[in-house]
This record gives sequence, structure tokens and C-alpha cells, in this order.
Amino acid sequence: MLEIVQIPVLKDNYVYLLREPAAGTVGVVDPAVADAVEAELDRRGWRLTHVINTHHHGDHVGGNLRLKERYGATIVGPRADRQRIPGINVEVGEGDDYLFGREKARVFDVPGHTRGHIAYWFKDSHALFCGDTIFSLGCGRLFEGTAQQMWTSLGKLRALPDDTRVYCAHEYTESNARFAVTVDPGNPDLARRVAEVKRLRAEGKPTVPSTMGEERRANPFLRADQPGVAAGVALDPRDPVAVFAEVRRRKDAF
Ligand code: ZN
Ligand code: FE
Repeated sequence: MLEIVQIPVLKDNYVYLLREPAAGTVGVVDPAVADAVEAELDRRGWRLTHVINTHHHGDHVGGNLRLKERYGATIVGPRADRQRIPGINVEVGEGDDYLFGREKARVFDVPGHTRGHIAYWFKDSHALFCGDTIFSLGCGRLFEGTAQQMWTSLGKLRALPDDTRVYCAHEYTESNARFAVTVDPGNPDLARRVAEVKRLRAEGKPTVPSTMGEERRANPFLRADQPGVAAGVALDPRDPVAVFAEVRRRKDAF
């Protein structure tokens, strides 16, 4: 099993350290910055071996080159975006099984937020690193992709087991929750999650990771094919892409 450490950085980013104890590999997922990562590694006496990127945005690759220089870390990132990932060494894409120490990460292409965005699923550790594709009760903005692409991408991740922990890259849950209830007001699982999120944030605790089961039941962006969300935006659930596009459009204007 991976040991996973969550590091909050910048305003609302989460960076993750992963340690695979059998091989001793230590990775960092989407290092927005290098200094907080170095401090946490020093504190634990860990030596970084890998940088693992989901997409090219600055708040995900900002620490790449400094970490590569300091530790000689191998940088793993999306093949489709190799020219935009600073220092990339290993290119991965849909269906690849990347071996991190003795733990296998299945790679999914999940275009939508960016055209080269990927996600890493560590099946044996029940952990998904999905960058800015799924957030708790939300999803990434469509900067470079269409609603159809993002809906297809979300569908791949939604199919993962209920107990998969969703390690997304931002703490956006409270504002996502405020929006979610406007499009899925009759969903009791959403109401429960909203109450939990309010309590956690009031206590200064992270709401991430959630689980895929929770997201499938409460996240309106994963529920565009459900009657409740379709009714919430006055569209037909038999056209989930149209429903998804409308939910995304409303969130952008919320
Ligand atoms: Zn991003
Ligand atoms: Fe981001």
C-alpha cells in the first residue's frame, strides 16, 4: 500500500507525496511549488525519486525543474502534452500501467480541462490522482476541451470502484457544494455531503479525499444522466452531454 501525504500549498492546491515502502520510491503528484515539498521530504527523511504530473498548468508543474535538479527525480507526465511538461522523462497515456516501485498506476486520458490531461489510478491502494478533472462535488473548467470530451473522461473515472479515494488537486468543495444544491436540490446524498463539508471546513479540515462512491452519489457533474440533475436544469437525461454542458455553463456563471 502507498503511504500518501497531503500538502496544502498556495491558496487552495493540494500536492501529494507518495511512498511505496517495498521499493522505497517517493513521488510527488503535481508539485505546484518546490519549497513546501522539500520541507515535507526533509521532515520525513524521504528522498524524492519521481514527479508525477496530471497536466501542464503552472499550479501543477511549477516545482518540476527545481525538484528534478535537486533530487534527480524522474518526471512522468502525459504523452499528449510532452512539450508542455517541464523536464518530462517518461511519457504515459491511456491504458498504460506505470510501475511506481511495486505499485502499478493505470493511466487514463481524461481530456476536457486541458487536452492532454491524464489521471493515475493506483488500484491496489484504492487511490485516484485526477488533478483538475474531478473535484469533490465539482469538475475542472473546460479550458481546452468540449463538454462531450469531459463527459466521456468523467465516465471513465466514475466507473472505478466505490472505495476509490479521489485525491483531487484543489480544495474547492465548499463553493462547489453551494452550486451543487442549485442543480440537484432533491438529492439526500448531496445534502448529507454538504453538511459534512460545512462541518469539516468549520473545523479547518480538508474535505479531500472523498471516495468515488460519494462522488457518484452526490457530485452533479457525474450525474448528468440522472433524472434529478436533468430536471434541475430542465433538460432530458437521455442527452447527458447536453445536461453536463448546461451544468458546467451554469457553474461558470455561478
Ligand atoms: Zn489546471
Ligand atoms: Fe489546478
